[in-house]
Amino acid sequence: MDAITQPTGADAIPDSRGLNLYRADPDLRALLGLYLPPDLAMHMHPHLDRLGALAGGKLDELALTADRNPPGLNARTRRGEDTQSIEKHPAYQEMERLAFGEYGLAALSHRPGVLGWDAPMPPAVKYAITYLFAQAEFGLLCPVSMTDSLTRSLRKFGSPDLIARYLPMLTSQDMDTLHQGAMFMTEQGAGSDVAATAVLATPHEDGTWRLTGDKWFCSNPDAGLAMVLARTQGGPPGLKGVSLFLLPRELPDGTRNRYRIVRLKDKLGTRSMASGEITLNGATAWLIGAPGEGFRQMADMINNSRLSNGVRAAGMMRRAVTEALFIAHRRVAFGRKLADMPLMRRQLTKMLMRAEQARTMVFQTADVLRRSDGGEQKAYPLLRIMTPLIKFRACRDARVVTGDAMEVRGGCGYIEEFSDARLVRDSHLGSIWEGTSNIVALDVIRAIQREDSLPALRAHVTSLLEESAALPEAAPALDRAAALAREANTNPALARQAASALYHLTTAAALAWEATRLQLPRRLALAQLVLRHRVLPRDPLAHVPDEQPGPDLLADPAG
Ligand SMILES: Cc1cc2nc3c(=O)[nH]c(=O)nc-3n(C[C@H](O)[C@H](O)[C@H](O)COP(=O)(O)OP(=O)(O)OC[C@H]3O[C@@H](n4cnc5c(N)ncnc54)[C@H](O)[C@@H]3O)c2cc1C
Repeated sequence: MDAITQPTGADAIPDSRGLNLYRADPDLRALLGLYLPPDLAMHMHPHLDRLGALAGGKLDELALTADRNPPGLNARTRRGEDTQSIEKHPAYQEMERLAFGEYGLAALSHRPGVLGWDAPMPPAVKYAITYLFAQAEFGLLCPVSMTDSLTRSLRKFGSPDLIARYLPMLTSQDMDTLHQGAMFMTEQGAGSDVAATAVLATPHEDGTWRLTGDKWFCSNPDAGLAMVLARTQGGPPGLKGVSLFLLPRELPDGTRNRYRIVRLKDKLGTRSMASGEITLNGATAWLIGAPGEGFRQMADMINNSRLSNGVRAAGMMRRAVTEALFIAHRRVAFGRKLADMPLMRRQLTKMLMRAEQARTMVFQTADVLRRSDGGEQKAYPLLRIMTPLIKFRACRDARVVTGDAMEVRGGCGYIEEFSDARLVRDSHLGSIWEGTSNIVALDVIRAIQREDSLPALRAHVTSLLEESAALPEAAPALDRAAALAREANTNPALARQAASALYHLTTAAALAWEATRLQLPRRLALAQLVLRHRVLPRDPLAHVPDEQPGPDLLADPAG
């Protein structure tokens, strides 16, 4: 191969600004055609194309600005009125307008009319938009997802009058009338262990409740509505005494509710979005559903948020891979492009593998959610296990892939002007909030124990494998993974190992299935990589076989 002339100065630094991240993704359009009805896939194409351009351009710039200008808490107005407010940078407000307003991301599952579609849209649309949006901005998607999830829980468990009052505001695309959602569960002594919840709810003669105590992590703390877990006065100890409440920021008479944002957190990532501490001083709230059902009902909201977290992790990985490929096809060292170096190709391939696993899991889980919400009973146990699987594994993989992408850019990767550093910082949160890795892996085992989810997952994976008929090693590996998961029932130390094995086998089978359906051999190559690298036994001292994938797997995203 002839040596390439080494560029000098600024010409030596590749810059992807302005790349359309929808068009740069070779399989996204085909996958949407597979997982969406044809008319909806066609309808969404121009919307996603525009979002792809935004994510690689204006939205990315807004995200960078908002990250550098975190929100601040104003305790009082300049006249001394005791009305707290959170000052958000105009860049963040513009991103809010895009997400809640233009793309109706918190509304599209709950009502018709968003993006010109005359029905509520299936989860795959919501997650396709989230996937692209997250490639530029992660922090704001927390309030977006909480608003969507709160609306879902309110519609499921709330009283008809509360639904009638708040649904239009929660699903508004007008920023002046929109009420965003939040979720206040965590306390200093009650994070993973929700049974230790100490905030107290006392009944009031008018039928509402009064909440008192401290909530320790409250993202989007100035949201119009929050779901709050609290212990009912005189109720039983433990989880049975914990109930779910809807907390409005403003009471129906227009006055401020009685709680204070005490301070905002200084965070490693998601710096664009406010997370605070709140003290409830006898705040008025409505009980949602039956007393003592708090955790069960909140679990639905948490699962919805966990799934959204997995989707965001997949999006961040895709951005990391797109950037890394873009650089590798342009950056020159030793007279060659990085993309032509065997060791770099191997590194890129492994990043791509993890990113594609997560993306496939997004679409698979979205489809199961659609079926479950549509009333298909056998889809629920499947949804119940696939949700923690993607939250656990994709969020952990995002830490690795975003870190690797930073390294592919070399020293510039460590500099905050590029997206890499922000992606690395943001990606670390996914494994902590909405349940840490241990807690979410244990939830996989709980789904197996309580919802009989293992046979459902095995049947699903087996049918994917049968249709592709391309991964003969997968079926016996699935038996072993299922045995490991059953063992984890009595030995929780195995929960993460079992959850990883189930995730890898599910994604390998689904990638092979997609390859068959779409006639895309590169997705089969990825499925085989997953098996070889993440499932089957390997000798660490053996000669590593040549893992060079087909050239189209590592194609230039701007090519
Ligand atoms: C930026 C940010 C925003 C947040 N926003 C919100 C929000 O809006 N609303 C909200 O309610 N919360 C929010 N949280 C809180 C978050 O969900 C909790 O921090 C998280 O659930 C962990 O709880 P904890 O901090 O109490 O840690 P702990 O529960 O004390 O966990 C500490 C460690 O112990 C491990 N552990 C605990 N139990 C087990 C077990 N049984 N087996 C093995 N290991 C175990 C955990 O995995 C973890 O590694 C936010 C957190 C952050 C960082």
